Amino acid sequence: MPKMQTAVSVAADVAGGRRTAGEVCAGALRQIEARDGQIQAFLETTRTDALDRAARLDADIAAGKPVGPLAGVPIAVKDNICTAAGHTTCASKILAGYVSPYDATVVERILAAGGVIVGKTNLDEFAMGSSTENSGRFATRNPWAADRVPGGSSGGSAAVVAAGLVPLALGSDTGGSIRLPASFCGVVGVKPTYGRVSRYGLVAYGSSLDQVGPLAANVQDAALLLGVIAGRDPLDSTSVAEPVPDYVAELADERLAARAGRLRIGIPREYFGAGLDEETRAAVEAALAVYRRLGARTVEVSLSHTPYAIATYYLVATAEASSNLARYDGVHYGHRTAHPHDLLDLYSASRSEGFGAEVKRRIMLGTFALSAGYYDAYYNKALRVRRLIKDDFDRALTQCDVIAGPTAPTPAFRLGEKVADPLQMYLADIYTIAANLAGIPALSIPCGFSVAGLPIGLQLMGPLFGETQLLQAARLYERETDWHTRRPSLGREV
Ligand code: GLN
Repeated sequence: MPKMQTAVSVAADVAGGRRTAGEVCAGALRQIEARDGQIQAFLETTRTDALDRAARLDADIAAGKPVGPLAGVPIAVKDNICTAAGHTTCASKILAGYVSPYDATVVERILAAGGVIVGKTNLDEFAMGSSTENSGRFATRNPWAADRVPGGSSGGSAAVVAAGLVPLALGSDTGGSIRLPASFCGVVGVKPTYGRVSRYGLVAYGSSLDQVGPLAANVQDAALLLGVIAGRDPLDSTSVAEPVPDYVAELADERLAARAGRLRIGIPREYFGAGLDEETRAAVEAALAVYRRLGARTVEVSLSHTPYAIATYYLVATAEASSNLARYDGVHYGHRTAHPHDLLDLYSASRSEGFGAEVKRRIMLGTFALSAGYYDAYYNKALRVRRLIKDDFDRALTQCDVIAGPTAPTPAFRLGEKVADPLQMYLADIYTIAANLAGIPALSIPCGFSVAGLPIGLQLMGPLFGETQLLQAARLYERETDWHTRRPSLGREV
């Protein structure tokens, strides 16, 4: 299998005239054509648009014009992020054939930085799920084992990076949807602080939880993409005007040396209890030992409301989803039933035909939690517990700079293993969901493999706008290990 170049080196080669963006783009499209069939991670490629854009970039470079930090880098985009090129479907039948009239702000920023978007990736319908099996199209396979899920909901984006089809992809994370697939596929995934990255053009699921973030094969590439997409956007009033650091520069050796000796790592005891797979526990503990060897101090911290995180999330997220998904009514967007009897039937038949089972379940749960008579008992209560969860993190982060633990309780599970039991599926997010409720940044990096050869992820969480220290801590570990350099051979089963 060809060794994939990093995004940083592709951009340097293209900007320096050693390769053309056209060659790089054609190469990525060839790889996708030859190998995506084995993982089924792309919903579509945007070949013509990508090749045009690459050619224009090459013309700019030939004319001596300045190019951005992503010059010529092929990038895949999760299909709940609007792109004017190709379709935006959220892997839902209700949006089949939908063409967005505009690019999401994150997409605009990627294009302005010279990135070349090559296609849209598969997801759980409307980002609701943990395995990409809830896609309204087809299931994506884990590149490390064809009979395993890639995680979700950004399973397509994690799988294309892991398989080496593109160096970078965008995902979205409402309760773990970047970090869980990053962990299952052995790549780096970053959920930024709420408000760090614009949500304009991200199809809303749980608006107070959603963030767009990068998936990459290594920490430096993730930092590069995060730096491009981060920052205030006048089109998203929840985006924050906090200055964007040069995340890549912050990973320079001297910056890391300054960080290593004084790093305090909090270890939440609630993240190492029952339900944690033994191989995952061992890999995470070995990672903590690497940090100690580097001079970091580890302290035990408590996130005592952890047992309530999943229940809280499934009230808040479904309440917001039930409201956000009301817009798909058969009138304004997407699928419309063929022969409605009357207006009500138009709404209900269009929605019944267009939404999949999990999306319907969430709309019903959310509508119930928000209904008169139950609002206080469920939704309001959940908001209060959400605050307690946030307070846990605030307290813990006075004792440490980053909090470390497993990203997921187990390595990738088998396709079909949890589809019949939604509650089991929800438990896959037990360690990731609290960061969304608290709004804090978190990332997952590869920290080992199970005996069966499945990747294991280490999660790091930090204070609001603490992306720099998270990336630095991740890079400190990555420099000591070679997990991130291993690549799967597609088609294997374990
Ligand atoms: N698995 C969680 C859910 O189904 C999280 C999904 C996400 O982060 N988008 O809601």
